Amino acid sequence: MKSAFIAALLIIFLYPSAFSQVLKIYQIDAEQGDAALVITPSGKTLLIDCGKKGQGERISALLKKEGKNNIDVFICTHYHEDHYGGIDDLVNRQGISVLKAYDRGDKQYLRAAKLKEKTYIAYQAAVGSKAVHLKRERVISLDPEMTITCIASGGVVAGESSPIPGNDENDLSIAILLTYGKFSYFTGGDIESPTEKKIAMGNLVKNVEVCKADHHGAETSSDSMFMVMLSPSVIIISNGNDGEYQHPRKVILSRYNSLEPKPDVYQTNKYLRSGPDGGNVPDGFIADPETVDKDGTFLVTASKTSNQFSLNYGGVTKNYPVKE
Ligand SMILES: [Zn+2]
Repeated sequence: MKSAFIAALLIIFLYPSAFSQVLKIYQIDAEQGDAALVITPSGKTLLIDCGKKGQGERISALLKKEGKNNIDVFICTHYHEDHYGGIDDLVNRQGISVLKAYDRGDKQYLRAAKLKEKTYIAYQAAVGSKAVHLKRERVISLDPEMTITCIASGGVVAGESSPIPGNDENDLSIAILLTYGKFSYFTGGDIESPTEKKIAMGNLVKNVEVCKADHHGAETSSDSMFMVMLSPSVIIISNGNDGEYQHPRKVILSRYNSLEPKPDVYQTNKYLRSGPDGGNVPDGFIADPETVDKDGTFLVTASKTSNQFSLNYGGVTKNYPVKE
């Protein structure tokens, strides 16, 4: 017993970094868009979407705060401005290089109007033309300490043998599951109920600690069966305060509240328009409850040696248990 204790002390002494490693996920306040910056336990950088045009500065500032100068892996979930519009700014004006990029591919099927869209052309010039088509089931090897798995891409989910391609750009989003020890995080871009249902029926993602609400809390996403299977402890909704789409929808907030066990639901911004269908969680759960430009970014931190993970926003820290 004594020798085992000495051996454990020796391991801690010889390999201290193995015991201080953490996974950090910044769910960035992209003001009605999506962007998540992941700092892996070994210090690599993964960016999943990059918000709207001109939003590279907030991402660049976070990278600098973390002492990083580049993005090791960028994933563009789908070809909508609020998910890839910021990449041009990040690469060309903020001077952040992207070492490897992935997207949902299938560009040969895009409509002529999309190919002529300024934001699409800028995305292609910045990283898109060299991006690798990320297909479902592919595991991205970025850090041996954690796994990054593509659960869905192009409307096709892992294990689906005879896929029927969809044509709704939102539902074609890439969905990713990150795991580190017992901690897991799911993010599905703007996937909607058809793909969510297939993920649930395939039993592909269960009992996560944190998920980003699909499609900003829209009524066409967060399928009931899918949410029951996901059973998140924490849901983060990336929404703007002035969106014409009235995100998040009241009906979706009540669906989240009816889950058992009940998750804690957070928003990056308070929805301030008076649309009848848009709603809000209580102010204490909103990172930016009042203004457009205050930074309502969330930071999720998990470590292998703790049975808790934490959520930080606006000077508040909350701890949650990691599920067994
Ligand atoms: Zn979106």
